[in-house]
Amino acid sequence: MFHRFRIGDMSATVVSDGPLTLGPPHKVFRGPAPEAIARALTATGQATDALHVAQNCLVLDTPAGRALFDTGLGDEKPYGPDSGKLLASLAEAGIAPESIDAVVLTHAHSDHCWGTPAFRNARIYMAEAELAYWTADPPLETHRPSLEGFRRHILPVRDRILTVRDGEAFLPGVQAWATPGHTPGHLAFLFEGGWCLTGDAAWHDPLSYAFPEAQAAYDTDRSQGVETRLRVLDRLATDRLRVIGYHHPWPGLGWVERGAGGYRFVAEG
Ligand SMILES: [Zn+2]
Repeated sequence: MFHRFRIGDMSATVVSDGPLTLGPPHKVFRGPAPEAIARALTATGQATDALHVAQNCLVLDTPAGRALFDTGLGDEKPYGPDSGKLLASLAEAGIAPESIDAVVLTHAHSDHCWGTPAFRNARIYMAEAELAYWTADPPLETHRPSLEGFRRHILPVRDRILTVRDGEAFLPGVQAWATPGHTPGHLAFLFEGGWCLTGDAAWHDPLSYAFPEAQAAYDTDRSQGVETRLRVLDRLATDRLRVIGYHHPWPGLGWVERGAGGYRFVAEG
């Protein structure tokens, strides 16, 4: 599945790695009453038993080459049988894996980076803090399967990794934005022309928007995750940035408005 659009003068394509099934909503988003969470999901036509989310990777054709933002789960399937479709989606869009010059990672969780080894010609960009976190010796206290997956899928390609700092314009028209909390080196990306790829800083439509202060179970530092989410949402709404949401309903494009007690994601095709 792919969706082509433009970011300024650049051709952009959202490519799907397929959907994931995550935990029960009230266990992932802590704080709001389970009934309030269920109501918000039902109002947008979503199931309430578990979180069902998309994986929307982005291909951006920059003047300095073709970049792929996040690479999905690869061929492992920890979150249901329907992931691992990125290569098929790229083929549908006529994009050869060898044509990817740069892989850009928001962070090193399974669903964002385990597909990386398929892109053999790519430099790999990630935050310095993220690489330091996952390669710390002795290893920091973290989710064991994530750490083992990082070692399986990212350590073998470590010689192609280039680290990126907050505010760095490391590709033409692309700037890194440090948004830590979900992971210590989580990055969002700002694109020329008023766009933001948000990664997992605010990843669920509608729950991350309706309940921005809920602590999210998948955040490494949950308090910092809340602070960052509030900072990101404030900027997205104030600057009216157009958003590319990784886990938002396909294809994940839209913008953010302030709403009663929180925010609202407004999807656009
Ligand atoms: Zn994710």
